[in-house]
Amino acid sequence: MADTQLLTAPVSELRQLLSDRAISSVELTRAFLRQIELCNPLLNAVVTICEDHALEQAALADKQLATGEIAPLTGVPLLHKDIFCTHGIRTTCGSRMLAEFTPAYDATVVSKLQSAGAVTLGKCNMDEFAMGSSNETSFFGTVKNPWDLDCVPGGSSGGSAAAVAAGMAPLATGTDTGGSIRQPASLCGITGLKPTYGRVSRLGIIAFASSLDQAGPMARTAEDCALALTAMAGVDGGDSTSADKPVPNFHGALNTDIQGLRIGLPKQFFNDDLDDQVRARVLEALAELEKAGATLVEIDLPHSHYAIATYYVIAPAEASANLARYDGVRFGYRCDDPQNLEDLYLRSRSEGFGEEVQRRILVGTYALSAGFYDAYFNKAQQVRRVITEDFHRAFEQVDVIAGPSAPGVAFPFGAKQQDPIAMYMEDIYTLAVNLAGLPGLSTPAGFINGMPVGLQLIGRPFDEQTILNAAHRLQTDTDWHQSHPSLGDLAS
Ligand code: GLN
Repeated sequence: MADTQLLTAPVSELRQLLSDRAISSVELTRAFLRQIELCNPLLNAVVTICEDHALEQAALADKQLATGEIAPLTGVPLLHKDIFCTHGIRTTCGSRMLAEFTPAYDATVVSKLQSAGAVTLGKCNMDEFAMGSSNETSFFGTVKNPWDLDCVPGGSSGGSAAAVAAGMAPLATGTDTGGSIRQPASLCGITGLKPTYGRVSRLGIIAFASSLDQAGPMARTAEDCALALTAMAGVDGGDSTSADKPVPNFHGALNTDIQGLRIGLPKQFFNDDLDDQVRARVLEALAELEKAGATLVEIDLPHSHYAIATYYVIAPAEASANLARYDGVRFGYRCDDPQNLEDLYLRSRSEGFGEEVQRRILVGTYALSAGFYDAYFNKAQQVRRVITEDFHRAFEQVDVIAGPSAPGVAFPFGAKQQDPIAMYMEDIYTLAVNLAGLPGLSTPAGFINGMPVGLQLIGRPFDEQTILNAAHRLQTDTDWHQSHPSLGDLAS
């Protein structure tokens, strides 16, 4: 198999090659490590490469493959977003605060994927503490979009998305608090799934906003996301918010029959604010699903325009509480030569956190403070409930809700950095899904001037299967997900 073909093959094909012993896991791991070595100087998608660790895991996988002791991902290489704690491997969360942090344990997602046989190639760059939509807030520098090196890859899981798009790994993990799996998946032309809140354990994922954070897979295909989600999901005694629900074999149950599937199109997602070209691409993708037997129905999510305001009270409030632990005393960055305790706190936090993280801490602390708690935080929680009820009402009428994943394609570096509100608008179609705790997926839906567009599919709570099926059907009938940037141009 030619290099490009191997590097852009979905996990489902790589598994086959591995189990047929047409390639060894060590060979495969070396091929991806080489691609990382070639492309990373240009893309900056990976912050830590674990070559020795990966080759050791791959050699073990090869032994298992030889004895036929095969788990669902045995020998398949992957990358983790650098928000997942990895035992003995530096975990930075894109921040100076944790630039030297080496966890003493693995996040549940990491250990589950490892037990499923996956090989960890390294850790992906990300917006600092997962706050951002462009990967411009990372302490380790921006990540470039492999489709256009002058553009952002989206964020906060932009390193993971860029890495998969550039053939540096067939699979990567991401987290999504307000859109951070779906928006970068859209901007980089890959498939990304945010599961239902509680489907995947948050143990060992560095917390941003605990009632919204959820981990999920980013890959080339819906089929690969189904494979990875089955391995990642499940109740965890270490996370009391993880759901005690049986985990279906999402991959085994994949089904392309979508006859009679009712897809709701919220009129608020298709109003005059939507870019015409994005609308055209999204409607073309939906027309494919209609051809396959789905029916399209207009629905109403009357409170969805409050999602941004609501999210930007709740997420910063939770972040300000979660980030209080980085005080320069227990772990993380400590300033040089502190004069007294106050100076130690003040300078460690001012020097350790970047501008966007500090902005969130300020907003969140304000919203939680005694005089403003009822006016802001409590009110936002009430609106959150109303937004959630809108979805539940809509799901009495339809099986899936669809819309764009992002308001546009990848934008040039710096275009939105001076205007936080413009940046926050990137998540206008994704945030409400987190507020309601629902599963959401982004699948490729064509291009605008050569840049990928994403279709978002939203499901009922714990019904990841239906959105995976619909995306799988779309990917069976179209080839947008098979396009990839020219890998030769990415090698430095
Ligand atoms: N862009 C959103 C934010 O900055 C969402 C980030 C995320 O999902 N982690 O908060």
